[in-house]
Amino acid sequence: MSVVAVTHRLRIEGLRAEVGGRPILNGIDLEVASGEVHAVMGPNGAGKSTLSHVLMGRSGYTVSGGRVLLDGVDLLALPAWERAREGLFLGMQYPIEVPGVSLQDALGEAFAAAGRDRREVTARLEAEADRVGLDRRFLDRPLNVDLSGGERKRNETVQLAVLRPRFAILDEIDSGLDVDALRAVSRRVEAATGETGLGVLAITHYSRLLTELHPDRVHVLAAGRIVASGGPELAEELERTGYAAYAEG
Ligand code: ADP
Ligand code: MG
Repeated sequence: MSVVAVTHRLRIEGLRAEVGGRPILNGIDLEVASGEVHAVMGPNGAGKSTLSHVLMGRSGYTVSGGRVLLDGVDLLALPAWERAREGLFLGMQYPIEVPGVSLQDALGEAFAAAGRDRREVTARLEAEADRVGLDRRFLDRPLNVDLSGGERKRNETVQLAVLRPRFAILDEIDSGLDVDALRAVSRRVEAATGETGLGVLAITHYSRLLTELHPDRVHVLAAGRIVASGGPELAEELERTGYAAYAEG
């Protein structure tokens, strides 16, 4: 008996995007299936965060070509909240402070919008907070306000675990994390790949994350293109050699 009954697919085809008239993504092709972890690594300024924002539909980015299909539905035609309803989740590199809205409120709204019972939220939130070591007092406080880096990323992981998206894009979920937080967050995300068939696009600068969150595939993004793809050994190679070999000539 297979654990994941249904396989979903996130397909990125020839994705091009510009910011302020400047091309940043120059034709990205990637495909992630349920239960898989794909790492996207690359130097600063390569376009990693731009990729995450374009996938989620953040304003300020112009898509100039390509498609992003979740089980055949073109996400680029949808506003961000509908992409979320289709099962896409973004863990941001710099989670935004939302004064006046707690995690409890935000997830209650998300459940209601998805036609799920918002009364389930509290119990699930508490269980997930305990699981990743986030103090329960953060659940009723304004989202991300005055949180440390580690608390923010634990907070994002709790959101992910409660919402159970089909695919999560995690932009530098390792940034600003100490070893314990990195391990807690990675374990929870990895468990979700098995328990709910979560597919992950883990964007990171450092291979450190990938010693905890084990990727099936590793891709190198440089100057807005995927310039190399391979197995986990590619991350180890990058750790030794850096990105110099992939710099634009
Ligand atoms: P990475 O996450 O790989 O470090 P980014 O996607 O943040 O890279 O940035 C890629 C390039 O796009 C950089 O040159 C950056 O300056 C530019 N860029 C990204 N977002 C914006 C923006 N909102 N306005 C102007 N330039 C941007
Ligand atoms: Mg970035």
